[in-house]
Amino acid sequence: MDEFVTLHEATIRLVAFLGVFLCMAAWEILAPRRTLHQPKAERWLNNIALVVLNTLLLRLLFPTAAVGVAVLCSTRQWGLFNQVDTPGWLAVAASVIILDGVIYLQHVMFHAVPAFWRLHRVHHTDLDFDVTTGTRFHPLEIILSMLIKFAVIVLLGPPLLAVVMFEVLLNATSLFNHGNIRIPSRLDGWLRSIIVTPDMHRVHHSHLEHETNSNFGFNLSLWDRLFGTYRAQPEDGHSGMVIGIDTWRDPGHCVRLGGLLLLPFGGTVTDYVINRRRWKQMP
Ligand SMILES: [Zn+2]
Ligand SMILES: [Zn+2]
Repeated sequence: MDEFVTLHEATIRLVAFLGVFLCMAAWEILAPRRTLHQPKAERWLNNIALVVLNTLLLRLLFPTAAVGVAVLCSTRQWGLFNQVDTPGWLAVAASVIILDGVIYLQHVMFHAVPAFWRLHRVHHTDLDFDVTTGTRFHPLEIILSMLIKFAVIVLLGPPLLAVVMFEVLLNATSLFNHGNIRIPSRLDGWLRSIIVTPDMHRVHHSHLEHETNSNFGFNLSLWDRLFGTYRAQPEDGHSGMVIGIDTWRDPGHCVRLGGLLLLPFGGTVTDYVINRRRWKQMP
C-alpha cells in the first residue's frame, strides 16, 4: 500500500484536484451564491495560470514533496509516531487533525506578521470569491507552507497514508470552501459544525478588517471556535458584502498574473495586518 501511494502520489493528487475542481465549477454554474463582479474568463485564466506555475515550481524544488519527507522519517525513525508505538488508525487520524491545526496557526501567522501578510495578500486581493480563489497563492507563500509542513512531518513522523490523505483533503476542502455555491442554510449549519463551508470562509474574504481577521480554518471548523476567531455571518450579508481589500482594487494588481507575482513587493503594509490592540477592540 505504502509503495503504491509513494509511486502514484502525484497522480492521486492531480486526479483528485481535477475531479473536485470540475465538480465545483459545475456546481457554481448550477447554483451560484453571488453574482461575480469581474469578467470570469480573465480572472480564471490568471488564477489558473498561477496554480499551474506553483505546481511546476513545487515539483522542481521538492520532487518528492511531503510524502518523500514522511518516507525519510519512517526510514530513519524520526518523529513522534515513528518512536511511540501507536495503532495505525489512531496515528493516521491524529496526524491529519494535528496537520490541520498547524495549517490554521500558519494562516493566523500569515495575517499577523507583516512580511508574510504581504505574500498572503495575493489570496485576499481576489476581487471575486469562487473555486479559483482557493488555488490563488503567491509562489513564495506556497514554498514557505511546504517548508513548515516538512518541519511538522519531521517532528510528528506521521504515517505515509496520513500525509497523502491530508494533502488531498486540504486541496479538496480549499476548492470546496471557496466555492461560489448555494447550500441551504440548515445544511450549511449542520456541515459547519464539523468542516469549513463556503459561507463560513467567505466571511474571511470580506473587505472589513474584523471579518478578514476571522475564520482562518481551512478544513475543520473546530480551530476557529476553539481559539475564538469564529464569525458566523458577514455583516452586509453574503450577497451585499464586498470581497477583497479596500486599498487593492486595480485589476492590474489584483487580476493579472504579472501584478499578482509582484504584489507582495509593492506599497506599505497598512492593510488588515493583525494588530493586537486593534484586534481586541474589534466588534
Ligand atoms: Zn487569509
Ligand atoms: Zn481563502
